[in-house]
Parts: sequence; C-alpha cells; structure tokens
Amino acid sequence: MEPELIQHLRSTLVGNPRLRIGLGDDAALLDWRDRDDLVVTTDLISDQVDFLLVEVDPRRIGRKSLAINLSDLAAMGAESIAVVVSLLLPRNPPHGTTLQLATQLYEGMIPLAEQFDCIIAGGDTNSWNGPLAISVTAFGACGEAPPLVRSGAKPGDLLLVTGQLGGSILGSHFDFTPRVHEGRKLSLDRLATAAMDISDGLLLDLSRLLKESDLAAILDLPAIPTSAAAAQLADTTGKTPLEHALADGEDFELLFTASPETAARLVAEGIAGTAVTAIGTLVAGEGIWADHVGGRRLQPQGFLHA
Ligand SMILES: [Mg+2]
Repeated sequence: MEPELIQHLRSTLVGNPRLRIGLGDDAALLDWRDRDDLVVTTDLISDQVDFLLVEVDPRRIGRKSLAINLSDLAAMGAESIAVVVSLLLPRNPPHGTTLQLATQLYEGMIPLAEQFDCIIAGGDTNSWNGPLAISVTAFGACGEAPPLVRSGAKPGDLLLVTGQLGGSILGSHFDFTPRVHEGRKLSLDRLATAAMDISDGLLLDLSRLLKESDLAAILDLPAIPTSAAAAQLADTTGKTPLEHALADGEDFELLFTASPETAARLVAEGIAGTAVTAIGTLVAGEGIWADHVGGRRLQPQGFLHA
C-alpha cells in the first residue's frame, strides 16, 4: 500500500477495540478469542464488468465493493466484523490521479463500514495499465445464533423477500443498504428456515435455494413487490415491472423461508424496519411454478457470471 494512502487512512479510520494491530504492520491482528464462528466471504468487482469508471463517482464504486460483501454476511445471518480491501488501480484513471482514485474509493467505503461497525483492517494496492479492480474480503460472526443457510427450507414453509425487487441498474445496485440487521434478526430469533441474498435475480437465486433444500416453489406472481425503478425501467425496455423483479440482478434483498406462522408475523410487522412480503410456498418436488405444480413453469433466469 502506498505510504500516502496509509497515512491518509490512518488519519481517517476510527479505532476499534477488536483491531489489536491495524494498518502499518505486515498483517492485521483481530481479537477473536471469544469466537468460534468466523464467517468469511469475498467479492471482486471491476471496471467494464460491474461498473463504468468513466461514468460513476468512485465513492459509489467503493461503497458498492463493501456493500456486496456485507450483503453476503447478511445472507448468513452474521454481523460484520472486519474487511480487507485489495485495489488494482489504473495508472491513468479517467479523472484525477491514482492516489485520488484510491482515496475516493475509501471515502465511499468508510461511512458504510462505520454504519455497520465494520473494521477496515488493511489490504493492498497496486497499479497497472489495466482497468480498476477491487477485491474485498469480509469477516463476520454469527455468535450464539445458528448461521442462515440455503438448505433448511421445509415443505409448507412460505417464501419471503425483504424490500422491493427489480430495476437496480437505475442506481440501487450502488446505493442499496445491505440487509445486515434484517439477516441478524432472522438468525438471532431463529425466524428463517433458509436464506440467501438476491444478487443474480430472484428466479436464478431461488433456483439455488431450492436445489440446496431439495424442494419446489409455487410463486404468487401478483404478490411479488416490484420497485419504482422496475416500473420506470419497464417504460423503456418493453418488459413488465414483474419481469424485471423476477430476473434483474443486484437487488441485494434477502430471500428466505419461514413457517406460515412466523411468515404472517414478519409480513405484518416487517423486520428491523424493513418490509417483508410473502411471495410463494415451498412444496415437495422440483422447479419454480406459477400458481400450482404442473402449471406454468418459470425458468431460472438472471445474471450468470462468466
Ligand atoms: Mg450471496
């Protein structure tokens, strides 16, 4: 990491008692004595693939690189503890210097890290003649609560989703709030039988949950909460808002299952201040069906990574 950047981060980052050794040494030392529940996830995003650096404020890109990792911790029901950040920086960014770009990326991450009490514990930077790439690895913990997994759904459980779906390309794929508090509550209060976050589109991610739980789902299509952005996008794409909600990627909402009694309570009360909607039922068998098994079968579709 460049000395100027280390200097800048040292003066910017707030201390945390769990971080016993931070920036400036060869590695970070985290206080983990009371924990046997380390949750680790990593995500890589890059210019031209996940965003266009020429068009987007680097702060939003930096924020996103952290937020997508926090969303995966949320999906496991973990609280966030720390992240390490690796930046591969273009030698000639479209605006400003390489150091300014690095600083702006961190400026986007820091408020979100503070919001979720997440330590930025270190990382590495390098520059090259290629495009910007950011790799963030996040560490979280489940504590006493069981982790949320995709494999625990039971026949008769209801399928639920937080927030609203579709149209993330209009901006929410940068600015979404990772559902860490919601996932944590699901885990701590043992409300969900299975859970994941929606990163590649509702149908595609649901197909993954169903595979792990070895079940089928009957979707209540009119119940699926479509976002205002999905409606706005539908005006220009010729698709319906529902089609956007079913297949658009990067909603970063939680998709989870619960008993009918728990589901009714969550739909009525929300979770951690976020709306919850029941969108279907899990049954024995395989596939995703509209209305009933053997009716109209919905094909998993969404964003498939190369
Ligand atoms: Mg995920």
